[in-house]
Amino acid sequence: MTGLDLTGRRALVTGGAQGLGEGMARALAAAGATVAVADVQDDAGAKVAEGLGEGHTFVHLDVTDDANWESAVAEAVARLGGLDILVNNAGIEITSLLVDLDADAARRQLEVNLLGTALGIKHAFRAMRPGGAAGAGGVVVNVASVAATIAFPGISVYSATKSGVDRLTRVAAMESGKLGYGVRVNCICPGLVPTAMGAGLANDVAEIGLFASPQEAVTAVVGLTPSGRLGEVSDMADAVVFLASDAARFVNGVGLPVDGGMGM
Ligand code: NAD
Repeated sequence: MTGLDLTGRRALVTGGAQGLGEGMARALAAAGATVAVADVQDDAGAKVAEGLGEGHTFVHLDVTDDANWESAVAEAVARLGGLDILVNNAGIEITSLLVDLDADAARRQLEVNLLGTALGIKHAFRAMRPGGAAGAGGVVVNVASVAATIAFPGISVYSATKSGVDRLTRVAAMESGKLGYGVRVNCICPGLVPTAMGAGLANDVAEIGLFASPQEAVTAVVGLTPSGRLGEVSDMADAVVFLASDAARFVNGVGLPVDGGMGM
C-alpha cells in the first residue's frame, strides 16, 4: 500500500505515557512523524518521548482541562513546527454494575473519555484550520472501543462514553467538512488488549462476580472473536498510522473496528 509514509508530519498523542498511546507514538514515529507525547504522567511520558529520539517531545496535558489543551497544543505547535495529526487516546475505565454505580466514578469517565476527546477536537480544529497556528489541515484519530457497539456487562458508563466518542467523531468530520477546515476525523474501536487497562478490566469483571476468574473473562472475549485472540498494541497502533496517513485520504467520519471481528 502506498501513502503510509508520515515523514514531515507532526503528531500529538494523548495518554502517550503507556499502553496503547505509547505504542501509537512509537508507530507514528517509526512511520516518519515527529511526535509530542501528552499525558498527566510527566516522568513516564517524558521517558517515552526521549525513547523516540531527537525532535520528539513531551507536553503535560490533562485532557479534561480546556486551558491545558490550549497551552499544550500551542507548545506542541511551537516545538514541532506545526501540527498535522491528533490522536485522542487518553481514557479511563472504572468497572461497576449499574446497581452499584458511583456518581463520581461515572462523572470522571465522562470527563476523561468524552469531554477530553471533545476538547481535543476543539483545539485541533483551531490549530489546524486555515489561519490557525498550524494552519495546514490534518487528521484527528479518536480512540473509542468495541464497547461502543456491544453490550459487555460491568462497563456500562465506559461503553456509553465510547459510543459518545463514536458519534462525536462523525459530527466533527461533518463540521470540519462543512466549514472547510481540511481535517479528517475518524475513530478506531479496539478490542480487548492486555494493557494495564485491559488486564485491569478482566480482573474487575471477575471481582464483581460476572466471571469465575479473569482468565474466564478473557476466554469469553476470545470466544466472541473470530480472529481467535486478544488484540495487541501494534494492531491498534498500525490502524492509527493508516488512518493518519494519505492511504486513508478518503476515509472520513468512520468508526473502524480493530477487534478481530468481536463487535460485528
Ligand atoms: P492505559 O490505562 O494503559 O493508559 C491510559 C493512558 O491515559 C495513561 O498513560 C494515563 O496516564 C492517560 N490518562 C488518563 N487520564 C488522563 C487525562 N485526564 N489526561 C491525559 N492523560 C490521561 O490504557 P490503554 O489500554 O492504553 O487505553 C488507551 C485508550 O484505548 C483508552 O481510551 C481506552 O479506553 C481505549 N481502549 C483500550 C482497550 C484495552 O483493552 N486496553 C480497548 C478498547 C479501547
